[in-house]
Amino acid sequence: MVKVDEIKKIGMNKKLVLVFCIVLAGCQGNSQNKKMAVENSDEAAASYKVTKTEAEWQKELTPEQFYVLRKAATENAFSSDLLDNKKKGVYVCAACGTELFKSEHKFDSGTGWPSFDREIPGNVAYDVDYKIGYKRTEEHCAVCGGHLGHVFDDGPSATTGQRHCINGVALKFVPTDK
Ligand code: FE
Repeated sequence: MVKVDEIKKIGMNKKLVLVFCIVLAGCQGNSQNKKMAVENSDEAAASYKVTKTEAEWQKELTPEQFYVLRKAATENAFSSDLLDNKKKGVYVCAACGTELFKSEHKFDSGTGWPSFDREIPGNVAYDVDYKIGYKRTEEHCAVCGGHLGHVFDDGPSATTGQRHCINGVALKFVPTDK
């Protein structure tokens, strides 16, 4: 009887050890995945000249700017103060100050978002997203990666035919000095 009890005890211990190993392996697996994800996001961030942590961006930007620029949200149509701005100047990234669009390329698209028929070459980068179910060309600041908006092919046919549909909250306007 004693022997049987001892065997049972050993069996129990083995089971406990086995459970412990599985839990440990599981944890290691998770932490490895997390480490890889962090490394990947660091790699992506490292490709931009201006890189900041999410906490740093959150501290520097207003909540609206943060959600649009860093979380690729879209501001409400007709909400931007820059929508009807017709002054001469340049529109810069609200996050890093890079010049993105010129006032002479701004046009009234009627969509409720500031629109331009072209970007300042080299300062805007492009990507593809399927967020609302169909393919769109996303555009972002080439220097900090901040999300700006999308570009469509239904712009003014007399010029480029492009419509850069930009969140006004992602931009700051710098008037030309007179
Ligand atoms: Fe930027």
